[in-house]
Amino acid sequence: MTVASARPEADYSRLTPEAQAAFTQAMERADHAGTNDTYRQAMTDACILAGLPIPASVNIARCSCWTDAGGCGCGAIFDTHLPGVVVTATNGPDLNLSELQCPTCGHDHPRPIAD
Ligand SMILES: [Zn+2]
Ligand SMILES: [Zn+2]
Repeated sequence: MTVASARPEADYSRLTPEAQAAFTQAMERADHAGTNDTYRQAMTDACILAGLPIPASVNIARCSCWTDAGGCGCGAIFDTHLPGVVVTATNGPDLNLSELQCPTCGHDHPRPIAD
């Protein structure tokens, strides 16, 4: 049905189970890597696994709606520097990654950290 396109976004739910597991591992490596080459390498790996063009920011995220209680189940994987991305939770101590919603979810049903 859907013709593959060069959309700057991937969908976690469409990855194979193997790719999902590897993607999650790469993101966990990035989360714990500090801000160094390990981080960039982990993010690059995650992009490749997701089939996402590596953005200039080398920062990607999976929509927090995938794991949020009450999230819509969106599994978008996207450049965190896209306009419209919504931060739903800041990164934990010693971790790199915040929880983010993709621009579509951030527009349709934002859950910002305000409260
Ligand atoms: Zn989303
Ligand atoms: Zn959503």
